[in-house]
Amino acid sequence: MEKLQNYINGQYINPNQGNYIDNYEPATGKVYSLIPNSDESDVQVAVEAAEKAFPIWSKMSIDQRSAILVKVSEGIQNRMDEFVQAESKDNGKPVSLAAHVDIPRAISNFHFFATGILHFAAEAHSMEGEGINYTTRKPIGVVGCISPWNLPLYLFTWKIAPALAAGNCVIAKPSEVTPYTAYLLGKVLSEAGMPAGVLNIIHGAGSKVGDAIVKHPKIKAISFTGGTKTGEYIARTAAPMFKKLSLELGGKNPNIIFDDCDFDEMLTTTVRSSFANQGQICLCGSRIFVQRGIYDKFKAAFVERVEKLTVSYPTDPKAKMGALVSKPHLEKVISYIELAKQEGGKVIAGGNQVHLEAPYNEGYFLQATVIEGLDFKCRTNQEEIFGPVVTLTPFDTEEEVLEMANSTQYGLSATLWTSDLKRAHRMADQIEAGIVWINAWLVRDLRTPFGGVKSSGVGREGGWEALRFFTEPKNVFVKF
Ligand code: NAD
Repeated sequence: MEKLQNYINGQYINPNQGNYIDNYEPATGKVYSLIPNSDESDVQVAVEAAEKAFPIWSKMSIDQRSAILVKVSEGIQNRMDEFVQAESKDNGKPVSLAAHVDIPRAISNFHFFATGILHFAAEAHSMEGEGINYTTRKPIGVVGCISPWNLPLYLFTWKIAPALAAGNCVIAKPSEVTPYTAYLLGKVLSEAGMPAGVLNIIHGAGSKVGDAIVKHPKIKAISFTGGTKTGEYIARTAAPMFKKLSLELGGKNPNIIFDDCDFDEMLTTTVRSSFANQGQICLCGSRIFVQRGIYDKFKAAFVERVEKLTVSYPTDPKAKMGALVSKPHLEKVISYIELAKQEGGKVIAGGNQVHLEAPYNEGYFLQATVIEGLDFKCRTNQEEIFGPVVTLTPFDTEEEVLEMANSTQYGLSATLWTSDLKRAHRMADQIEAGIVWINAWLVRDLRTPFGGVKSSGVGREGGWEALRFFTEPKNVFVKF
């Protein structure tokens, strides 16, 4: 069985203690590789390598740094198929999705920040007759990046690329549920001429190696994407050490559909915003609110489309949905469907596991599921499910839907469908979310601030926000 390795100080190496965790293929439910179960001793080796590399990397000219990062981007592109197949196998998502979304975006992340850093500048504030302030922005040093399993390489590189572009050295940990593409990245780094120790990739359990990264005194900043509970733990651990923190956490996003919307466009996008990546995108709109005038029309049309979504093994070209990422996650999502029934909900589409032929008969497949008839305050409508499950709720007025939309502890994103321009702006202004799409979903411009409010996180990623996070400003005043 293939044993993955950590990538530390420019080399693939085994974990110090020689311990491994099973890596499952979601489509078959079988173990297909072993992941290093690293611990704090591996983190220590990586931090020492990163500290040694920091003076080299941070003092390199921005042009040189940029050129290496562009090569990393090109290196992923050159191995596109290898990355696509690996991501799909490791995560359970359809190959087509990995080919059109995950890997292209990882390539863009590196390219965007490799070139963005060339334009990054600090401010000056002049005080008439007195003097001038200028602000420098220097890399922080050694930083930690911890990412989740839903968009493995996409979110891993979304953190690493700006951290490196800004001149930091990085200790990075992908999810132990989906480690494979981060493992492959080591090859690309070596080929791109990345100096040893600049980016160290360590695999293992969050509670062990993730915790060791958060607690290491030499790691000065943590950029984390994952669940709200984990984020809370990290904040509690890192705060007394005064670490800089960026936390991208869970969501329970509203998708608000007014009866004056472009129905066909809304319907097509709503199927995607509900079930893309098996509903395992933090930005999926899991609570669908529909204005009463079109509720029945929407319900019928939506259910008809949803029932046509083919659930199949990831390499099946017909697959619109693949496998959920893991058995525990499948069980969690199913338990929420059961909860919804207990709370009075009616399953109007899906609701069941899908059993495919061998070798996929043990895979974690679930139908796209639509539930109606629930109170907006019930647990199903308040807690993050993070799977192919959406609820439908009718509403009459803007005030009513705003109350329902804003009722959860989360505030990551929201989608609005309306042709009324004034209403669109009015609603966008009042929705408690870091990101609002009007008549669209998941349109991403990498320059824009990305992140959530309330329990969905602290701080923003993307564009200058990310480069500012990964640098320390220093203000210098000079008297005239
Ligand atoms: P998770 O919190 O279980 O794990 C995320 C990462 O943190 C993994 O690498 C894990 O190993 C690590 N980790 C776990 N415990 C840790 C600890 N004590 N210390 C340090 N690291 C630890 O989340 P998940 O199940 O992998 O991902 C799903 C969650 O991620 C969902 O809640 C989803 O909404 C969220 N998410 C948010 C965004 C966003 O941008 N806001 C994007 C994608 C996913």
